[in-house]
Amino acid sequence: MTNSAYDANNIFAKILKGEIPSVKVYEDDDALAFMDVMPQAPGHLLVIPKIGSRNILDADPAVLSKLLPLIQKLAHAVKDAFEADGILINQFNEPAAGQTVFHLHFHIIPRHQGMGLKP
Ligand code: ADP
Repeated sequence: MTNSAYDANNIFAKILKGEIPSVKVYEDDDALAFMDVMPQAPGHLLVIPKIGSRNILDADPAVLSKLLPLIQKLAHAVKDAFEADGILINQFNEPAAGQTVFHLHFHIIPRHQGMGLKP
């Protein structure tokens, strides 16, 4: 399970509450997608559920089952819009795995053949 409880004051929770601005690209009753503020490539999106969970380890499977079809849809949209050759989907759980914001999120990152990501 998780190392810590969900913190309802994390930065993505504040984005959901409208307390911090974001560049929204998609929203429905269950999820929000917005541009990453430090994109690893142009078109780098983040997809988050509206229900708070720290990461995938404590997420409700019903929430996860709604998110994946949306991630697929947005991956197609990003691939088309940025004429990408591929799409990288990243998702980190806990600091040891690189997580820095503790509200479940998926990165959708366009990739172009021969172009590396920022380290
Ligand atoms: P990492 O920071 O190692 O990528 P995460 O998977 O926790 O780990 O990613 C958090 C992401 O949130 C980062 O890509 C970061 O640029 C992004 N981010 C942080 N604050 C904001 C914000 N206010 N608006 C949009 N993206 C943000």
